[in-house]
Amino acid sequence: MATFIVDCPQCKAKVAAEESGCAEETGFEDPPGEPYGLRLHVGNCPRCKTPLAAKSHQLSFKGWEGDEEDVWSDPVRVHPNPPKTFSSLRIPNTVTKSLSEADIALQGNASLAACVMFGRALEALCRDVLFTTEEKKALRAVTAKRLMLADGIKQLRERNYIDSRLFDWSQQLHAFRNLAAHSDTDGGSITREDAEDLQAFVYAIVEYIYDLADRYREFKERQEKRARAKAKSQDASSFWGGNNN
Ligand SMILES: [Zn+2]
Repeated sequence: MATFIVDCPQCKAKVAAEESGCAEETGFEDPPGEPYGLRLHVGNCPRCKTPLAAKSHQLSFKGWEGDEEDVWSDPVRVHPNPPKTFSSLRIPNTVTKSLSEADIALQGNASLAACVMFGRALEALCRDVLFTTEEKKALRAVTAKRLMLADGIKQLRERNYIDSRLFDWSQQLHAFRNLAAHSDTDGGSITREDAEDLQAFVYAIVEYIYDLADRYREFKERQEKRARAKAKSQDASSFWGGNNN
């Protein structure tokens, strides 16, 4: 029976799932005409029987620009616990990319690497929220000027972007990031459970700063539009002599 290697969230381990189905899509993107390939594997964990689905994409294509064989990426789980998605379009690329790297690291039981990526995501968030457009441009030009994570978190709180609870969570993320990033400390003490909690915290912070802020703004805009429309119709009815009796 065909198998695919995937992280089972129940067993918290990579398992060879017994593949009961696979859907594939290949073709050429237009433009620029590059080939692509996507596979969706479905099967059960051999240990706990949890149904698992995982996605892999094609890395090289036999016969295309000298590729000698078809190569596919390691499957990444999409069910259960699919990768978190955010709705806000304001989230910087570095944030989303770091978070998805962290998720892949977690699925490979690389808790240290995941923590480093959480720190990177939070750092990018601080830069995005705290710096003006000019400062960000200058930052790109001079890579020397950096915002330290501890300082960034402090400023997020001081300038009221986050409340005291999110501030506590951010500090935990910072502490674990340091533990993971510095080779002289015992980073081995970060368990997968810790890393999964930190993942939930960093998701909550991103959601709070971007998704919920966007949603609240849209909600307020709708309210104001309605209030304006109501005021306008009241003006019109008073112009025509109110309720005519
Ligand atoms: Zn399992």
